Amino acid sequence: MEKRQGKIGVTTENIFPIIKKFLYSDHEIFLRELISNAVDATQKLSALASIGQFKEELGDLTIKVEVDKKKKTLKVIDRGIGMTADEVEKYITQIAFSSAEEFIEKFKDISEEDQKSIIGHFGLGFYSAFMVSEKVEINTKTYKKGPGTKAVHWECDGSPEYTITEGNRKDRGTEIILHIDDENKDFLEDYKIQELLNKYSKFLPVPIQFGEEEVEEEIEGEKDKDGKPKTKKVKRPRIINNTNPIWKKNPTDLTDEDYNKFYRELYPMSFEEPLFHIHLNVDYPFNLTGILYFPKVKNDIELQKNKIQLYSNQVFITDSVEGIVPDFLTLLHGVIDSPDIPLNVSRSYLQSDANVKKISSYITRKVADKLLELFNKDREKFEAKWDDIKTFIEYGMISEPKFWDKAVKFALLKNTEGKYFTFDEYKAKIENFQKDKDDTLVYLYANHADEQFSYIEAAKERGYDVLLMDGVLDNHFINTLEQKFEKSRFARVDADTIDKLINKEDKMPSKLDEKQKEALKKDFERNVDSKQFEVSFEDLSETDAPVLITQNEFMRRMKDMEALGGSGMMGLGGLPDTYSLVVNANHPIVTKLADEKEDAKKDEVIKQLYDLARLSKNLLKGKELSEFVKRSVEIIK
Ligand code: ADP
Repeated sequence: MEKRQGKIGVTTENIFPIIKKFLYSDHEIFLRELISNAVDATQKLSALASIGQFKEELGDLTIKVEVDKKKKTLKVIDRGIGMTADEVEKYITQIAFSSAEEFIEKFKDISEEDQKSIIGHFGLGFYSAFMVSEKVEINTKTYKKGPGTKAVHWECDGSPEYTITEGNRKDRGTEIILHIDDENKDFLEDYKIQELLNKYSKFLPVPIQFGEEEVEEEIEGEKDKDGKPKTKKVKRPRIINNTNPIWKKNPTDLTDEDYNKFYRELYPMSFEEPLFHIHLNVDYPFNLTGILYFPKVKNDIELQKNKIQLYSNQVFITDSVEGIVPDFLTLLHGVIDSPDIPLNVSRSYLQSDANVKKISSYITRKVADKLLELFNKDREKFEAKWDDIKTFIEYGMISEPKFWDKAVKFALLKNTEGKYFTFDEYKAKIENFQKDKDDTLVYLYANHADEQFSYIEAAKERGYDVLLMDGVLDNHFINTLEQKFEKSRFARVDADTIDKLINKEDKMPSKLDEKQKEALKKDFERNVDSKQFEVSFEDLSETDAPVLITQNEFMRRMKDMEALGGSGMMGLGGLPDTYSLVVNANHPIVTKLADEKEDAKKDEVIKQLYDLARLSKNLLKGKELSEFVKRSVEIIK
């Protein structure tokens, strides 16, 4: 074959500086691209063999990655279909360069994040090699026989000029040689290549070999003094990937242990077992396989996002599935493998893509179905896991109407006694007792069982039930529930005195008349911080606390929202913390106070009552707390 020379026909004078510049942030993907090409070439050959168009032995199809630190080369070698000289010209030179032009046209509009997944889909994969190399060579020999099928050597030094000559490769397949440039010496380090292979190639369908590993091998016929076979250390090629990952297998062939093992393979740094898993498998109207795991959801939900790995035909693409699945599903772990997720588009476009929409609702439905199945099959077990999955489920119910529709069948409410109820069950439980004067159903809740202990007790004493809503999303979830439930509202147990929250027919008679209350109110107001507390009187039971503090539900929620930084109140200097100081007109201490003549004596008792009420609400701190302690000691003396 005569030597051919050419100039790459691209309008932009020199494509390489552009490739280097715009893909700067992601040099490392070159290895994924070259290995993917090698895998494609290998699979094409297997496909030809399976339909009888390639009749020779396939032999060992392992793809090899080799680093030579001295020569500063990195090689990717396959035994796939190879290329003829014409094919090299066509596929490597012409087509790739016309895609490069297209890429340059489009790269302006895409985020850096997207570029990394895009490059391979512009037929630019091979050229990513120039991000790290000063020269790239191809040695290839096609599987075809006949004229024009001799081995080919292609070489290009990063200028638009290349040479193509007859090569000396004997074996079918392709060898890509990168001469790594000085700035990218990292890629000549074993650990670095190992890390990249782990990231991108862990589950490729063709074996990938990198380096060697030492294993113990039994020596035939030789035994040690205990009769055990003697062993010796031998080296063998190290295969870095698992070519048949379990998400590609049939679920009926797999055990829970298989799934857990795979989980540990995916997340070697995770110490916890997943709660359960879903095996996804569809081929119509789109192709998707995968396994999703439910982890225990901790309080810091942001930290747990983006653990799902997205693959396209077993090639790792990204671990950011944002935009592909609904946000709440990003709390799950696992793998989604689908060639039908378009990758050459921006994230915002993804959300409007018809296929992605279908995939997204398929996954949402599968997840909901799985949860319902678990609930129906073994309610006890489901309840046992509820606390760990509730944040996930609430997140879905708040943000995805479709998920809400399914989840109402299995979502649970937990009360302060640790019992679980479905929404319907709970409604039936409180329907006849817990209504306010407008006939609205009142869901009492606590979000801190210890801090609200006395209020919870007071509610229980009257036969009411109190929910425990202490999850990270419960504030939001309560809002959603109020919107969805008819004629219902949620009130924290300390939002008002319990008898006001829930309308009781028989009003308590009062031991004090209006005049006495008026006078006593003034005494109280003299002793409490009027900016924070509004004093009022109520006829509670003698056994209720003499003084208690409540905080209006609406105001408290506004404060909570403000604390989360999500309200429109920001910038107004913050909402004041205001409370009601409710004096129990029927408590013996209070009725005695009404008879007390001396102001000093009154003040002493009122201060003590006021501080006790604040103490039980965790509002007494610092200097005031220390004064209270001193005063109490004096009283005991
Ligand atoms: P893409 O893989 O997206 O088509 P590339 O630039 O990576 O784009 O490769 C261009 C073409 O070169 C491939 O489509 C293939 O035809 C050919 N090619 C690249 N690498 C190999 C290889 N190892 N063996 C055979 N053909 C290859």
